[in-house]
Parts: sequence; C-alpha cells; structure tokens
Amino acid sequence: MRFESFSFAPEILRAISECGYQKMTPVQQEAIPAIRRGMDVLASAQTGTGKTAAFALPILQKMYDNPAETQRSNTRALILTPTRELASQIADNINDYSKYMEVSVLTIYGGVKLESQAQKLKRGADIIVATPGRLLEHLQACNLNLSNVDFMVLDEADRMLDMGFVSDIQKILQAVNKNRQNLLFSATFSSAVKNLANDMLVKPKLISV
Ligand code: AMP
Repeated sequence: MRFESFSFAPEILRAISECGYQKMTPVQQEAIPAIRRGMDVLASAQTGTGKTAAFALPILQKMYDNPAETQRSNTRALILTPTRELASQIADNINDYSKYMEVSVLTIYGGVKLESQAQKLKRGADIIVATPGRLLEHLQACNLNLSNVDFMVLDEADRMLDMGFVSDIQKILQAVNKNRQNLLFSATFSSAVKNLANDMLVKPKLISV
C-alpha cells in the first residue's frame, strides 16, 4: 500500500517522499489507519520494521487536522524510549517528517544539564521525545505540564522495563491527560510488558509483524 492512498496532508506526503519512502511497511499498514481512527495500539515490532513512522506519521496528521491545538504551548505528544540514542533518532525522524509543518520537537534525556533542558521545556514543545528517568525528574521539578498530551507512545517498552523504568513510567502516566490515545511498541512480551499494556491501553488494536 502506498502512502498516497491514505489521504495524508500534502506537506506530510512531500516529506515522506523526500525520505525515499514509497510503500508502507507491514506495521505502518496496520498501525496508521488504526491510530488515525483514534484507537489505542499494542504492537509487536522490532527496530527496523518502520515502527517510528508507524506512530509518528498518524500523530503528525492528527496534529495537522487540528492546527489550533498545535499552536498551544502545551505538549500534545509524549514519546518515551529507553536510550538517549533512540530518543535522538526518533526526534530526527519526526523532524524529517514534519519539515513542512509548524511542529516543535524536543528531546529530553540524562547526561545533559537539567537547567538547560528546563529552559527549553518552559518554552514548550508540541512533541517531547524522552527517556523516562530524566522526564520524571523534570515532572517532579514542575518544569513541564503533561495535562494536554493527546498521544502517549511507549517505544521499546520491553527494554524500558528491563532497564528498571517501570515505576518511572507509571508515575509519568499518572501525570498525563486521561483522555489520551496510547500506543505501545515492544519487540517481546514478558508478563511485565503485558501488565503495563493492561494498565495503560483501552481496547487496543493488536498488531504483530
Ligand atoms: P524504524 O524501525 O522506525 O527504526 O525504521 C527503520 C528504517 O526504515 C529507518 O531508517 C526508516 O527511515 C526506514 N523506513 C521507515 N518506513 C519506511 C518505508 N515505508 N519505506 C522505506 N523505508 C522506511
């Protein structure tokens, strides 16, 4: 299935085409329509399957469909991922996909001074891509408000749990708008991942690639 068949905005289609993407990957083919319909998603997908675009493109399209809301200084999408490298990679991808839109993306991870990140958080960002530990530190310091987050993504949930982030993630989830859409991606499904999925997702679309 080609991206053109999914009625993306011309700005998004142009960016996708400049990335050299033509056909959707299997996870994109299943996740994109479900996310656009507003469903929660539970996807079993490894890195390399195109999972970043599978969640980022429909989120960008939904932001495009509601431009008034994207102009708020509040964060509308929060993506949690296990490492600094993954956070940078996801943010780079989103910047590529949104190059013809007015969307701000901020990465938040450990190993960088809190204060400089706090300044950026106070200026606001439409999309935050973060590692759980550092995001929680900022949340506890009241450096950001997650009450308007419409889209919550857990990327590589199994790795985040293996790294001991479960209680950080649970605390973050409590601070996020209750009416949000939840997307959980994981390569493997231990009982810990299943428990987290049960707590977080409402009637999710199940995807396995
Ligand atoms: P990911 O699984 O998100 O880490 O993506 C793996 C790689 O596939 C990245 O380099 C993406 O830029 C690329 N990619 C994602 N979607 C597509 C697509 N539909 N066609 C070609 N390449 C893609």
